[in-house]
Amino acid sequence: AKERGRNQARFFDHGLSRRYSERLELEGRLRQAVEARQLALYYQPQVDTLSGELIGMEALIRWCQPDGSMVPPDKFIPIAEECGLIVPIGAWVLREACRQQQAWLQEGISRVPVGVNLSARQFDDTTLLATIQAALAESGLPPAYLDLELTESLVMGNPEHTRQVLAECKQLGLQLSVDDFGTGYSSLSYLKRFPIDRLKIDRSFIADIVTEPDDAAIAQTIIAMAHTLRLEVIAEGVETEAQLALLRRWRCDAYQGYLCSRPLPADEMTKLLRQLRAT
Ligand code: C2E
Ligand code: CA
Ligand code: CA
Ligand code: CA
Repeated sequence: AKERGRNQARFFDHGLSRRYSERLELEGRLRQAVEARQLALYYQPQVDTLSGELIGMEALIRWCQPDGSMVPPDKFIPIAEECGLIVPIGAWVLREACRQQQAWLQEGISRVPVGVNLSARQFDDTTLLATIQAALAESGLPPAYLDLELTESLVMGNPEHTRQVLAECKQLGLQLSVDDFGTGYSSLSYLKRFPIDRLKIDRSFIADIVTEPDDAAIAQTIIAMAHTLRLEVIAEGVETEAQLALLRRWRCDAYQGYLCSRPLPADEMTKLLRQLRAT
């Protein structure tokens, strides 16, 4: 038994160090990707559940590798967060989203805000407000067209710090959304003490609303309570007409999901906006 224990320990160490070196390798390639401008933003429409009208969009980062393959954010954002690269990457996302949104605004094809995801590490960085202000100034984008998406855990992590930063963001004129709502432990009444405009119900609650009465009850309750607190509600990850029909019945304001559109590269989003404008 002792022998086996030792072997197991050795085996485990091997796995750990392999994963560690894979991580280092990925981190190195990510550093290069930032310098080689291999990062791109895709945009996913957000639409009114009743009218189908475009009410916003979310910018989602992609890592486009030289061989044409694409690394999804779930594969590199956590690493960028750990090694601190998320701060310069996040600053680029803010600048690029503002630049693109202002270009659409100037062309007269967009009148909706763009949502940008922020991670906790960026939120704790003392340069965040200066970075946002620089992105707005550089692009000329009016602040009301920028919507910051913050996860529940980020918001609840350090409530005093959060309240202060969010108040400053609100003073700038930005919109604020709570992302992945329902996955954390915060109560709506607590959130109401922050100057939040909108909740995004996490995809995991929406996925089974048609078949699971418990999920349906949770989604419906979040929507009703959010409205009582005068918050707007967006459902994430809507894929079917049946889901949309329920969300309409429950008066969910808007949704985002494959049913309407996958996230699109900027040039395809431009085409979509021109089409919408023409109709
Ligand atoms: P998220 O903010 O919750 O973004 C929504 C994710 O759901 C996106 O995945 C989107 O492509 C996906 N999605 C949208 N509609 C549907 C649907 O109908 N069905 C399904 N199955 N999925 C749908 P994506 O683009 O892979 O992004 C994953 C996560 O990576 C995001 O989750 C966000 O947490 C993070 N992320 C993306 N871009 C950024 C960024 O610029 N900065 C930071 N800090 N995080 C980002
Ligand atoms: Ca988001
Ligand atoms: Ca989300
Ligand atoms: Ca998510």
